[in-house]
Amino acid sequence: MPDVDVLVIGTGPAGAVAAWEAKRAAPELDVVLLERDPAVGSPVRCAEGVGDRGLREFASPEGASWVARKIARVIFVAPDGTEARVAERDVCWILDRTRFDPFLASQAAADGAAVLVGTEATGMVPARQGGWEVRVRDAHGEAVYRARVVIGADGVEAMVGRWAGLDTRVAARDMESCAQYVLEGIAFDPDAIYLQFGGRIAPAGYAWVFPKGVGIANVGLGMVALRGDGRSAREYLDAWVARRYPNGVRVGGTVGGVIVHTTLRRICTDGMMAAGDAAHMINPLSGGGIVNAMKSGRLAGRTAAAAIREGDTSERRLAAYHRAWMALLGEDHLKYYRIKRAIEDLDDAFFNGLARTVNAIPQQQRTLGRIFAHALVRHPQLIPVAARFFV
Ligand SMILES: Cc1cc2nc3c(=O)[nH]c(=O)nc-3n(C[C@H](O)[C@H](O)[C@H](O)COP(=O)(O)OP(=O)(O)OC[C@H]3O[C@@H](n4cnc5c(N)ncnc54)[C@H](O)[C@@H]3O)c2cc1C
Repeated sequence: MPDVDVLVIGTGPAGAVAAWEAKRAAPELDVVLLERDPAVGSPVRCAEGVGDRGLREFASPEGASWVARKIARVIFVAPDGTEARVAERDVCWILDRTRFDPFLASQAAADGAAVLVGTEATGMVPARQGGWEVRVRDAHGEAVYRARVVIGADGVEAMVGRWAGLDTRVAARDMESCAQYVLEGIAFDPDAIYLQFGGRIAPAGYAWVFPKGVGIANVGLGMVALRGDGRSAREYLDAWVARRYPNGVRVGGTVGGVIVHTTLRRICTDGMMAAGDAAHMINPLSGGGIVNAMKSGRLAGRTAAAAIREGDTSERRLAAYHRAWMALLGEDHLKYYRIKRAIEDLDDAFFNGLARTVNAIPQQQRTLGRIFAHALVRHPQLIPVAARFFV
């Protein structure tokens, strides 16, 4: 039975950064990072957009092989097709996650963590002498690892949290169904991301065009299935793509779920922490989770290292991770979630009107704050939500 100090389950952004940070904080520890898929970063189940500031906390995008495109503009598209351009600065990057996730894992490996691909955790039980016994399966058979601390970074499925006794259930209204194609041979501004709203296009969600290059983009949508008319996200996407890009060639595609709720009430227990999607740390307003996953992985990795050094890996000690996460982003997510619920009830006429109002503001002055202020004038019922948001 191999003995390890920190066993990280899942090599997405949360897990890779957790292993990297744990090893960096305490080089003497044995850190093992598991990935079920045969290659880190594939298949891609993501639109791959990240904000500039968040990304830079972890790596510099200039000239990096894992960047697909730099984005300078955001274009909101109202249900009636009216376009409103919002930002004109470095706003975000579109990654190539088949390279970005391996880049993060390689940072962990360079600091001494062992990265095992094609290796799936299949269950775990508390070990008699403390920590966890984790069953692991790879092409050669099964093994059991004893780990002092387990970090569950296994994405939306969140099995590790469940094995450890966390309540990882999600209400249907808080789960977005997503579908996406990589479309080639389509016309759009390659320096802009497009966010398309409309109850008939993506109920209680939005559709996106995230450029990967000139003429090629991730084109997808996320919707709350409960708000739809019985059709799947894929069927909604097919209908939208047929209207907007009838000649686009599909060179890739994915479907997946995004949890648009707030952080789990409990994200750690004795010898175990959950990070990233597995702990429901996605921004509930935007559905973005890459940077959040990395930030939570950093906190979890550092907490694991410090706790092991102190010889105390109890839930009480690991709760420092939960508190740090809530102060960093978790509290904000509670506010974003309230805004999301309020926005869900707005109809197409609201978005059409807002786009026209925004277009009447000179382009240099179109900040998100000003747009929000206009939204409040038209929809005073948002004011209590906004007040809570900004306080
Ligand atoms: C269609 C779609 C579009 C999205 N677009 C964006 C976007 O543009 N920007 C953004 O910021 N976010 C986006 N997201 C969300 C983003 O993909 C996630 O928030 C992010 O990947 C979370 O990282 P993570 O490390 O927590 O989990 P993941 O990236 O899901 O990584 C979890 C890893 O764990 C592995 N694993 C699972 N179970 C086991 C096991 N038992 N043993 C071993 N390994 C296991 C999985 O194979 C996987 O590699 C999107 C999501 C979807 C579905």
